[in-house]
Amino acid sequence: MNLILFGPPGAGKGTQAKYLVKKLDNFQVSTGEILRNEIQKNSEIGKKIVDDMNDGKFVSDHIVNTLIEEILNDPEKKNKLIFDGYPRSLTQAKNLEKLLEKTHQTIDFIFFLNVDKNVIVKRIENRKILEKRSDDDLKTFLKRYDTYMATTKPVLDFYSKNPNFYEIDGNSEINEITTKIDNFINV
Ligand code: AMP
Repeated sequence: MNLILFGPPGAGKGTQAKYLVKKLDNFQVSTGEILRNEIQKNSEIGKKIVDDMNDGKFVSDHIVNTLIEEILNDPEKKNKLIFDGYPRSLTQAKNLEKLLEKTHQTIDFIFFLNVDKNVIVKRIENRKILEKRSDDDLKTFLKRYDTYMATTKPVLDFYSKNPNFYEIDGNSEINEITTKIDNFINV
């Protein structure tokens, strides 16, 4: 089973992805984590993206699409993908469609975690304390949110027409959201 967790920064995609990875024995595809890892390794990609990421800006579609292509081509991960934070632009969404077709895969569920901005701001303040992410201060978060609204919202419009698209009220507690997802996937 392949699925996409979609929603604004701080919607709880990562938390639900980690739960689903265990439950389904799948792989989490968190582009944010992959990119942070590149920065930590101080790799060539890491050096290129560090400023943009710290500034709450998107990393280029080209870099992210290249990283994703590797994952989709990995036979071990075939039909076992939980996308968390990808795709985030229409270019990425179209790239994913192309790669899925090429690797004979489909997306079984697209979950949109719809959360109010004020609820996310509270979550981000807590996450900053717990995870010490440099892009979680309020000013950077607000920038990331604006980028989401401008660039990622069109992806939502694109996916909302898909028969496997499900909107979930993500304002509630973590376990309530998990239950809602569980009810949909029903395994
Ligand atoms: P996340 O952990 O998903 O909140 O992502 C953290 C940061 O990583 C984002 O604010 C972007 O700078 C970068 N990033 C993650 N995923 C993508 C993506 N699909 N496209 C472009 N930039 C991304």
